[in-house]
Amino acid sequence: MKLLFCPQCQDVRKLRKLIVTRCQCGAVAGFYKGDGLHAVVSTEAMVVGLDNRSLARAYMQTSGFLRDVGIVPVDDEGDLRLEAWAISLDSPRIERREEVELTRADYNLSAAEGG
Ligand SMILES: [Zn+2]
Repeated sequence: MKLLFCPQCQDVRKLRKLIVTRCQCGAVAGFYKGDGLHAVVSTEAMVVGLDNRSLARAYMQTSGFLRDVGIVPVDDEGDLRLEAWAISLDSPRIERREEVELTRADYNLSAAEGG
């Protein structure tokens, strides 16, 4: 999943499909387009990718569903490590806009590309 990070208020929010999500201070916003893969975010936003599988595995292990199976890396204090990364500014899946508002073209990416 993609997370929106605001450098001003340090808020982190999950991007949602076709729903504009704003940080606590309102400086950054974003949403997934209709295809669920491409996203639109504010020009100043940082986008963080969080590996869904590592999150699910860590959840299963911390909730007791799986125990001590060694599938999630653990640090020196016994905390489980999650995989996350900062998405590149020129990622083809992220469009940056000054004003983040849904447009008709955002609902259906293939229709937008088709003209
Ligand atoms: Zn903010």
